[in-house]
Amino acid sequence: MGGAGRPGLGAAARRGGGPVPVIVALSGGIGGAKLALGLSKVLPPEELLVVANTGDDFEHVGLTICPDIDTLTYTLAGLDNPVLGWGRADESWAFMETLAALGGEDWFRLGDRDLALHVLRTHRLRGGEPLSAITDDLRRRLGIGARILPMSDDPVRTRLRGDAGWIDFQDWFVRQRATPAVRAIEFAGAAAARPQPGVLAALRAGPRAVVICPSNPFISIEPILAVPGMREAIAVCGAPVVAVSPIIAGQAVKGPTAKMFSELGMEPSAAAVAARYGALLDGYVMEEGDDATGIAPHVFRTRTLMQTLDDKVALARAVLAAAEALR
Ligand code: GDP
Repeated sequence: MGGAGRPGLGAAARRGGGPVPVIVALSGGIGGAKLALGLSKVLPPEELLVVANTGDDFEHVGLTICPDIDTLTYTLAGLDNPVLGWGRADESWAFMETLAALGGEDWFRLGDRDLALHVLRTHRLRGGEPLSAITDDLRRRLGIGARILPMSDDPVRTRLRGDAGWIDFQDWFVRQRATPAVRAIEFAGAAAARPQPGVLAALRAGPRAVVICPSNPFISIEPILAVPGMREAIAVCGAPVVAVSPIIAGQAVKGPTAKMFSELGMEPSAAAVAARYGALLDGYVMEEGDDATGIAPHVFRTRTLMQTLDDKVALARAVLAAAEALR
């Protein structure tokens, strides 16, 4: 991993022997994890910190489930399930089948191997360990060099208002397959949440860049920015902030991002995503042919569709090069 051919950001700090400035990548699950994997292939492990959204977290059958942390962890460990797009490869379903046969809730599928992680995490949370410590320990045990930290150790839970009232995120996303139209979004607990201290420390130490991965702005990135102090810490960190559009040709690659823009009264486009992040952005990486009219930050164009590992690596390099150009 790392080394050959990567942009020379941070070389001065390395020569001086001081702390190595990191790339801080804000990420949700699927789209974010693809770019995080690319970044992990081109950066030395100590130079990458991935900040995971925890607004999707929920309590289910007595377990605390953290879908975005887990997607990142499985993806960076090479254990992800490319067919399902969530969970682990090489999975079996005896627990789920038995749970259903016993009359338990089976709308949120938990594979047997995946379940081990949820049981262990829940047990350790109940023992008083912070989510960040558990996440850090598990990623090490799975051989991941880069750090993955939750945006906060305090619980934040995304809720959506549809025409039938407020519902919890996973009820909407998984049980109702993201079909009810979304009229409003809230991040319960965010006002009282504190940014995870390791994330804040990395931002205060002066990172090389902050990368906003191509994740859903409404439900993956905005929960991170809603943690009090997080947006400000990013804005004043002194490093270029570069986002990658999750919208290509007016469509989401996967999931409800484009549909949510329409339901919330905005035309889905790369420009609409950039507008959500507003003055936070210094640079914006978007698909070659897409319309950049009205986008305020500096625009960089490249192929942003990540189908292969080579695509992920190439986009990671393009994002790092964009950040370097802005320094
Ligand atoms: P979630 O938490 O699992 O929904 O994951 P994210 O929010 O991180 O990812 C969902 C977003 O990723 C959607 O808006 C997709 O359009 C976007 N996405 C998925 N794959 C790609 C890709 O290959 N390229 C780009 N640019 N965006 C992608």
